[in-house]
Amino acid sequence: DAPKPSNFLRHIIEADLENGAYAGRRWGGAPGDGPHHAAGISDPAKIRTRFPPEPNGYLHIGHAKSIWLNFSLAEQYGGVCHLRFDDTNPEKEEQEYVDSIREAVKWLGYDTLLADQPQQPGTEQPHEYFASNYFDFMYRAAEYLTESGYAYVDEQTPEQMRANRGDFGTPGTNSPFRDRTPADNLRILREMRDGKHADGSMVLRAKIDMASPNINMRDPTIYRIRRATHHNTGDKWCIYPMYTFAHPLEDALEQITHSICTLEFEDQRPFYDWLLERLAEGGLLTAPPPRQYEFGRLNVGHVITSKRKLRQLVEENHVSGWDDPRMPTLAGLRRRGYTPESLKLFAERSGVTKTGGAWTDYAALDAALREAVDPKAVRAMAVLEPIKLVLENWSEVFGSDEHLEPCVAPRHPHHPEMGQRSFKLGKEVWIERTDYEETPPKGFFRLFPGNKVRLKYGYVIECTGATKDAAGNIETVLAKIIADTKSGTPGADSVKVKGVITWVGVADGKSAEVRLYDRLFTEEQPDAGGRDFLSVLNPGSLTIVQAMVEPDLINAAPEDHFQFERHGFFVADRHDHSSEQNGQGRLVFNRITGLKDSWAN
Ligand code: ATP
Ligand code: MG
Ligand code: MG
Repeated sequence: DAPKPSNFLRHIIEADLENGAYAGRRWGGAPGDGPHHAAGISDPAKIRTRFPPEPNGYLHIGHAKSIWLNFSLAEQYGGVCHLRFDDTNPEKEEQEYVDSIREAVKWLGYDTLLADQPQQPGTEQPHEYFASNYFDFMYRAAEYLTESGYAYVDEQTPEQMRANRGDFGTPGTNSPFRDRTPADNLRILREMRDGKHADGSMVLRAKIDMASPNINMRDPTIYRIRRATHHNTGDKWCIYPMYTFAHPLEDALEQITHSICTLEFEDQRPFYDWLLERLAEGGLLTAPPPRQYEFGRLNVGHVITSKRKLRQLVEENHVSGWDDPRMPTLAGLRRRGYTPESLKLFAERSGVTKTGGAWTDYAALDAALREAVDPKAVRAMAVLEPIKLVLENWSEVFGSDEHLEPCVAPRHPHHPEMGQRSFKLGKEVWIERTDYEETPPKGFFRLFPGNKVRLKYGYVIECTGATKDAAGNIETVLAKIIADTKSGTPGADSVKVKGVITWVGVADGKSAEVRLYDRLFTEEQPDAGGRDFLSVLNPGSLTIVQAMVEPDLINAAPEDHFQFERHGFFVADRHDHSSEQNGQGRLVFNRITGLKDSWAN
């Protein structure tokens, strides 16, 4: 393996491992509080990271970076990474999202790293964690804070709370409920839990400092009343923990060592540490606690990564679904043809830094795709905008108009072991409409009257003209074949040409639907400055063409990757493509991206 580029997280982890920061660590709390009390700690000295998506949407390319970062650090340092569904919000979460997240992580190839602890005995399910499994502990922690005077029930209205929170440079104002006794607070908290109070009538808040320069430390809300059925705990609870309270507890119970998140959470870190220190004081958890580290989130040009906005694209039918090949979701990227390898390469190259705000050019994703797929992708010829070429002297050279001349080409130019493809050249072939010009512009080396080109893997031909319809549109291109110039024969070099064109035989070519994708947005930062991102949707983001392709492609399986020569990288559509043996099925290919230079001859 090539040495991995370093980043600040690797330095931190290496130092921690060298200092034995996690050796011999033992966690407090009662048996059953966290998964590692139940299952036993396999190796407490290991580092543990986690990827904690909220199951309220499909994962996107930003999540791919976080998945790559957390899983690859665990992998590199012999640790473990937890896939944790952060499902503490009962209203927005759905099973469909849980399933799609599970599938995406598995597709990226990380499911084996999840198998640290046995899940259900006797099943092969990789281990997964659900934050909602810790609701009992979270509530106990809330009671502990309340009893200890670290939390209070606030009955201000949300508007009053907002007004009294203050602002940057303006300290907040204490709630009139702030000085209730711990005993009163505990009694009311239990009433909240027991359903004695209406939704929204009161909240539990941490009691920290309403004058803190960090607004997140101004008595953050930690529990609210919400009568909603939770996908995991049903109607057991009518109070639910807030994310900022729940998250550190999830990390601590799972004995996460390095809790890696994006920079927006930097201001939450003091509360994260405050909370875990209080609970350690109370013996609910013991040191060393997990530590939070922030890195700059991934922003990709021409891409939106807000789940809410992605949902809007789906719900308002601007795309065909969460897995539309134009979507930056992992389901969409997969269907478009991006591979796990290419996404990991992209994630790694986009860098891990302590500063945010940088945008990564979408071209870097395409470069990673080409690099990852080019060594493996089978080559094929496809004509995306077919026009017929007739070789007028065919029977003079081959004896009959029906003669078909067998041609071969390597499946991959650098991998002879991948074998050869075969197809037939006949009197009529499909060529690209753009390969013929009646009056060639300067530097045009393809077909125009009097010019010679090679039909790739076939013969040199000389263009003699074209026929036109009544409106003057080119109908058929005409040429003469030059005998004894077949590729791979001694005569191949007898005629020098400047142009080589791709083609598909009319006799053996197959019809295929090819979907040509372009950027979904015309602006690099579609939602910058509060712009309505729908106003910059690219109307040309999808063009469907009826193409002609090489006969071998009838055997393509869904998700097989190809390089269509001169055109770029394509994938057989995961859902709509079916191989066409026995005349059944339907060929559907998606363009992932073009070739770096589309004009090599
Ligand atoms: P959204 O704000 O769109 O709902 P989110 O960031 O809240 O998305 P989560 O499901 O909470 O989504 O995220 C799970 C993990 O993925 C978090 O640790 C988060 O930091 C990380 N993540 C999300 N987006 C990005 C991104 N663009 N770059 C890097 N990491 C990201
Ligand atoms: Mg979130
Ligand atoms: Mg977010």
